[in-house]
Amino acid sequence: MSSHNILSIAGSDPSGGAGVQADLKTFSALGGYGMTVITALTAQSTTGVAGVQEVPADFVALQLDTLLADARVDAVKIGMLATPEVIGAVAKAIDTHRLPHVVLDPVMVAKSGDRLLAAEAIDVVRSELLPRADLVTPNLPEAAALLGEDEAGDLDAMRAQAGRLLDLGARRVLLKGGHLGGDTSTDLLVAADAAPQVFTAERVATRNTHGTGCTLSSAIAALRPQRPGFDAAVRDAKTYLTAALRHADALDAGHGTGPVHHFHAWWPTGARG
Ligand code: PLP
Repeated sequence: MSSHNILSIAGSDPSGGAGVQADLKTFSALGGYGMTVITALTAQSTTGVAGVQEVPADFVALQLDTLLADARVDAVKIGMLATPEVIGAVAKAIDTHRLPHVVLDPVMVAKSGDRLLAAEAIDVVRSELLPRADLVTPNLPEAAALLGEDEAGDLDAMRAQAGRLLDLGARRVLLKGGHLGGDTSTDLLVAADAAPQVFTAERVATRNTHGTGCTLSSAIAALRPQRPGFDAAVRDAKTYLTAALRHADALDAGHGTGPVHHFHAWWPTGARG
């Protein structure tokens, strides 16, 4: 079997817990060969984002076209996009290069509260990227922002909002219910042509949750070419993320909200190297 090439189109997080750094670690841990097109640099630690430097859209396009003229890509994860112009460049590349298995994590605001997508770009994500994604993975605030509605407060409201995201043109939606609170975290996978599925995972007691959204969407992209469908990829990606959260406290990457442990299965237990 030849290897799978998985592409992340996302921003850089110097602390290594989110963004392209998290994506590469996740792809690698799950048997994918990682590639990256960087849309923005952030100045960031586990305590927050101090600044953002967007990559000009024509240089994002050059990165994409140069890479894709050479390499086959088997799945794509899209994360931080920063500006409407960058979104346009990514939408064009999806069409021109017929990119398969596109997983869109509609990143808007970091856990620290810092904006990662210009407010005026939300309309462009909705019109240009939702219809081009094979799966979109919003959390409750992101779904509310895409729909221009209040956040869902229970599973019934989540079902209704996931349905309305399909109406906007998304092919599949994984609506992540972690913000609802409680002992478990419930996500809902809906598609136009299949019955909805509910995925429930234990809520892991750790403050180290930086990059969980990046990690889940990347795990789905890495696993999709290795699984028969998105439902199996989502199930196994959630299992991976739960284990990475369970081992997060073994890392020591800063004083704020630390990263999850992407290589929990590889490193000796408790070792700091
Ligand atoms: N920084 C970058 C570059 C990201 O792409 C993301 C992803 O969502 C984040 C930060 C946010 O990470 P978190 O909200 O988990 O802190």
